[in-house]
Amino acid sequence: MKLVDLPERPIQCMNLVGREWSTPQGSSSLPVISPYTGKQIGTVPLSGPEAVSDAIQRSVSAFPAWRNTPIKERCQHLFRFRELALLNIDKLANTAAMESGKTVAEAKAGILKGLEVVEFALSLQNMSHGGILEVSRGVTCHSVREPLGVVVGITPFNFPAMVPLWMYPIALALGNCFILKPSEKVPLTSQLVGDLLRTAGIPPGVFSVVNGDRATVEALITHPEVRAVGFVGSTAAAQSVYATATSQGKRALCLGGAKNSVILVPDADEAIATSGVVASFTGCAGQRCMAASLLLAVGPVDHLIAKIAESAEALKPGDCLGAIIDRAAYERICNAIDIAAQDGAKILVDGRSAKAPVGYEGGIWLGPTIIDRANIDMECAQLEIFGPVLTIVRVNSLSEALAIEARSQYGNATSVFTTSGAVARQVAARASAGMVGINIGVPVPREPFSFGGTKQSKFGSGDITGMSAVEFWSALKKVTTKWEETQGDVGSPENWMS
Ligand code: NAD
Repeated sequence: MKLVDLPERPIQCMNLVGREWSTPQGSSSLPVISPYTGKQIGTVPLSGPEAVSDAIQRSVSAFPAWRNTPIKERCQHLFRFRELALLNIDKLANTAAMESGKTVAEAKAGILKGLEVVEFALSLQNMSHGGILEVSRGVTCHSVREPLGVVVGITPFNFPAMVPLWMYPIALALGNCFILKPSEKVPLTSQLVGDLLRTAGIPPGVFSVVNGDRATVEALITHPEVRAVGFVGSTAAAQSVYATATSQGKRALCLGGAKNSVILVPDADEAIATSGVVASFTGCAGQRCMAASLLLAVGPVDHLIAKIAESAEALKPGDCLGAIIDRAAYERICNAIDIAAQDGAKILVDGRSAKAPVGYEGGIWLGPTIIDRANIDMECAQLEIFGPVLTIVRVNSLSEALAIEARSQYGNATSVFTTSGAVARQVAARASAGMVGINIGVPVPREPFSFGGTKQSKFGSGDITGMSAVEFWSALKKVTTKWEETQGDVGSPENWMS
């Protein structure tokens, strides 16, 4: 069965700088490999400091006119972009899938979720962003929300369309010029997005795509004209980007990795818990920051674990289960499973022997894997494995589960499966993670609720979407005004309102 449409020959990615797509002068390049086949589907240029500086200068030039464009006019372009993205959703989803390994259905769901951020951004045109008050006789203060200038978004491989969509709609609606640096592993989707934004009428230099790797990121986040940096990726990179950007006086909000707990208690509904847990750790082949990868099994829940194992074992690669991004990631995941077995955990379901879908034998496939009876100090219970792997740690009480959750270095998401309101309330109140799910395995808040974790899952304050993002991508200017009070009417009896 055909899982994705692959290009006949590799697609040459370019940078969108100013009006045109172009290959940065003298740049080296990397092949883009599809996880479905292991074959090259594209080439991505690695932009050096000059190419980065050129893109930033174009954005600096575009900024005055864009910031002076009324928000209602700016939003018209985003409105058209949303329409175009929906018209082209199959092509976008296929491209995101073929380069990231997720299934086309998952890619489509991610795009639709991302487009909700466009809808949120569109709503900003109907909100007053300031306020006015007479602060003393004849003196008023009012505030206006202003864009920052040239801002940058650096994004990971696992959501080629959705994670950039968390950033640029709000940043653009507020009047910033946005430069996207997509992951070098998945640059193809951003080529399509850049075209759609251009077709939607976003002026040259207002939205740019600069391809590259870590060195490109360094050049972007240290450039004096860049005012703010949004980053999503691994914790090590997030922490480093945050430290560098803030040391240069820039705003930064950097989202990192995760190890999300799901607490399973004996009274959980069997069907809801089974589908919720399995979908959470196997969706996107476990390559998402909201995957529940640590199951804290409270008391006698063997009947539920048996159902989870049965349902996970039935999932076959290619059939609702995507591929692993690259060979290095596959080796890392398998190594984590080996170490868990050596440390004494039980491999309850082993996905390492799963067969590749017919016709995709060159791809990188791993079946769902469940590591049971792990100790909380084992690597498999502590580290982000980022594959379709669930580690189960048995605990005696809800308090013990919550104490483990609180000690995690990460804080993206925590879920509980229960039919007890009291248990649900306790988890919601005591969880240290930024996003909590009650009978939901992937508790991604929908707009206008914002997305963001705590601890090593996020560096910087506020969240990446919602009103937090409005704060992040703009500054409040406060204006205090005093006019001479006039004595009676000026000139004719008619005043300016008549
Ligand atoms: P990554 O950190 O390797 O790369 C992310 C981006 O940063 C890419 O654009 C890459 O070019 C750049 N980069 C890589 N190393 C860098 C460095 N040292 N300095 C500066 N830039 C660097 O992440 P990835 O493998 O593409 O994505 C997977 C990771 O992203 C996982 O850890 C996952 O949990 C995390 N993630 C987090 C969220 C969230 O919302 N918290 C969402 C999606 C993914």
